Amino acid sequence: MKYKRILLKLSGESLMGDRQYGIDPKRLSEYAADIKKVLDTGVQIAIVIGGGNIFRGVAGASKGMDRVQSDHMGMLATVINGLALQDALEDAGIPTRLQTAIKINEVAEPFIRRRAMRHLEKGRVVIFGGGTGNPYFTTDSAAVLRAIEIEADVILKGTRVDGIYNADPEKDSDAVKYDHISFDDVLRKGLKVMDTTAFTLSQENELPIIVFDMNKPGNLLRVVTGEQIGTTVNL
Ligand code: UDP
Repeated sequence: MKYKRILLKLSGESLMGDRQYGIDPKRLSEYAADIKKVLDTGVQIAIVIGGGNIFRGVAGASKGMDRVQSDHMGMLATVINGLALQDALEDAGIPTRLQTAIKINEVAEPFIRRRAMRHLEKGRVVIFGGGTGNPYFTTDSAAVLRAIEIEADVILKGTRVDGIYNADPEKDSDAVKYDHISFDDVLRKGLKVMDTTAFTLSQENELPIIVFDMNKPGNLLRVVTGEQIGTTVNL
């Protein structure tokens, strides 16, 4: 295996499957099956889950809601997704812990770095919910932060597109995909990989990011074995 410890970032929207809102149980069980294949190879897996399928802070604020209040709702949405993902993983026989950045002790463990790392060493999947615990941040920032904290080798950003293109492949049929690109080139070309806060945190800490299509069964395992799929961003 190319990596020993990975941080998988899944957006909230990825959990919707074909729906317009909420959680598709079929999609969750497909993800669980893919995660199990990787876990069975001995690779340690931490996951940061988004909340955009339920609520986004900026969307609430754009309709007049207080931004901080709205972001609190967004963070709770990520906890809901985390619980759903935990349920699907455990259903697939994967021991899983959910740790949250905001304390909800009856529901999940609080984020404790050393405990998270211990879970990983014992072969448990650790899901980080609640983002960073702070408003005005995203779960991409949470993914980078947690990846650095737990000393993950790489961030795997599972999306519905198969990598980073020089234009939006869903709008421009001439768009060309990069296999590898540097952090500097992403910024220079104005490409969207993550929000700038998340992206520069990854760059400053020399943490590579791989963007790949998570919706193709087996892709997660292929990435972890080092097969060239998706786009790798590094120095
Ligand atoms: N959020 C936040 N702080 C964080 C992470 C998330 O306030 O550290 C809130 C924010 O309102 C955001 C929502 O949670 O819109 C859902 O997260 P995100 O938009 O990153 O989810 P994704 O796009 O990955 O589904």
